[in-house]
Amino acid sequence: SRIETTDVVIIGAGPSGAIAAALLRQQGRRVLVLERETFPRFSIGESLLPQSMAYIEEAGLLQDVVEAGFQYKNGATFARGATETTFFDFREKWSAGWGTTYQVQRGAFDKVLADGAARTGAEFRYQQTVLAAEVEGEQPALTVKDNASGEQYRVEARFVLDASGFGRVLPRLLDLETPSSFPVRGALFTHIEDRTAPGSFDRNKIIITTHPQHEAVWYWTIPFSNGRCSQGVVAEPAFLAQYSGDDQTRLQTLVNEAPNLKALLADAVWDTPVRQITGYAANVKSLYGKHFALLGNAGEFLDPVFSSGVTIAMTSSSLAAKALGRMLDGETVDWEADYAVPLKRGVDAFRAFVTAWYDGRFQKLIYYKGKNEEIRRMIASILAGYAWDETNPCVRAPERWLAALDAAVSA
Ligand code: FAD
Repeated sequence: SRIETTDVVIIGAGPSGAIAAALLRQQGRRVLVLERETFPRFSIGESLLPQSMAYIEEAGLLQDVVEAGFQYKNGATFARGATETTFFDFREKWSAGWGTTYQVQRGAFDKVLADGAARTGAEFRYQQTVLAAEVEGEQPALTVKDNASGEQYRVEARFVLDASGFGRVLPRLLDLETPSSFPVRGALFTHIEDRTAPGSFDRNKIIITTHPQHEAVWYWTIPFSNGRCSQGVVAEPAFLAQYSGDDQTRLQTLVNEAPNLKALLADAVWDTPVRQITGYAANVKSLYGKHFALLGNAGEFLDPVFSSGVTIAMTSSSLAAKALGRMLDGETVDWEADYAVPLKRGVDAFRAFVTAWYDGRFQKLIYYKGKNEEIRRMIASILAGYAWDETNPCVRAPERWLAALDAAVSA
C-alpha cells in the first residue's frame, strides 16, 4: 500500500490541530492534518475565553476570526434563583492581555481556523480516519483510512501530534487512558432561536445559571450573533435520569425550573434536536512519548463550567509547537519540563476552581457582595482564562487563596 512522508502529522483539525498546524508552518515544517469528518461539522464548546485570543494571534489567524462576524464577548453573567445575578467584565481583570473574545458556532469557527492554517501551507485532508499508530520505534507512522474509497495508506513522519479531541486516538491505541478525578457528569444541550425581548439580555456575556435547588446543577446560555443561543444543562446522570420524555422535553423542563431562564426564553423557538453527552471528563497517564504529544482534549478534559476547553487546547498547541520546533532542529527536548509541566500548571489552577464551583465555595464567592476590587480582578482573570499567570495569587496558590477567601466570606 501507499506510503507518504511528512515532518509532522496531526490527527484532528479542531482548534488544537489547526493552531498547531499554523505554528509549525511558521517554522517551515511540512504538516499533514488528517481529519475524520468534513468541515464544517458540529462541535460542542462555543464560548471562548480572552486568553485564547493570544494563541489565535500567535498563529496568524486573528484577522480571519475577527472578520468571521462571531458574537463579541466581554464577560460572564452568573444567575441563581429568581433575582440573584452578578457579572464579571473580563476587561476589569488582574492579568495583562486580551479582555474580550467571541462566542462561536464551532462548525464555522473550526473551519475558519483550519482554512487559515491551510492557507499557510499545511495540508488538511478530510474524511480520513486514523486507525493505528506506531510511535515508540525509530520511525513514527500512522495507518490511515480514506473514508470515501476505503483505501488504507501509511503516513511516516518525524513526529505525531494527537489533536483528536474526544476521539482520543492515541490514548486509546496506546492504552494511556486514565479516569478523571471528577465524578461523571452529563449535558443536555441544543441551539435555539432565542427571541429574547430587546434589552432583556446582555448578549456580550455567557450566562451561567445555577439550578435553584441543586447547587451542582448548572446551565449555560451562550448567545450567538444571529439571534440564536446555545442552551445546555450539566448534572450528574442520576439527576438527569429523573426527567422523563424525549430529550427536548427534558431540557425544556429543566430550563423552566430556573426562573431567570424561564422568563428570558419564554418565546424561544426550539427548532434543533437536543443532544446528550455524558462522561466527557478524561485524563491520560502521559501527555507525550518518544515521538508524540497529546494536544487539547486528547489529553485531559476537566469540565465545561468555565469554558476553558478551547483555551487549554490552544495553550497546548503553542507549548508543543515550540518544544517540537527545537526537537526537529536537533536539540534535546525535555517534554516533561517543557510541555507537560507548564501546561498542567494552568490546568491545575482551573481544576481547583472547578472543584470549588461544585462544592459551592466559588459560587459563594462569586455572589458575595463584599468583595473588594482587587479580588474581583483576580476572579475576572481566571474567568478570562489567565490560568497561567502566576502573578495572580488565585493562580499561584489556588487552594490557599480559595480557603482564605472562603473563611472571610463565611465569617
Ligand atoms: P476537537 O475540537 O474535538 O477536535 C478534534 C477533531 O479530531 C474532530 O474534528 C474529530 O472529528 C477529529 N477526530 C477524532 N477522531 C479522529 C480519528 N480517528 N481520525 C481523524 N480525526 C479524528 N470549551 C470551551 O472552550 N468553551 C465552552 O463553552 C465549552 N463548552 C463545553 C461543553 C461541554 C458539555 C463539553 C463536553 C465541552 C465543552 N468545551 C468547551 C470543551 C471543548 O469542546 C473542547 O475542549 C475543544 O473542542 C477541544 O478542542 P480539540 O481541538 O482538542 O478537539
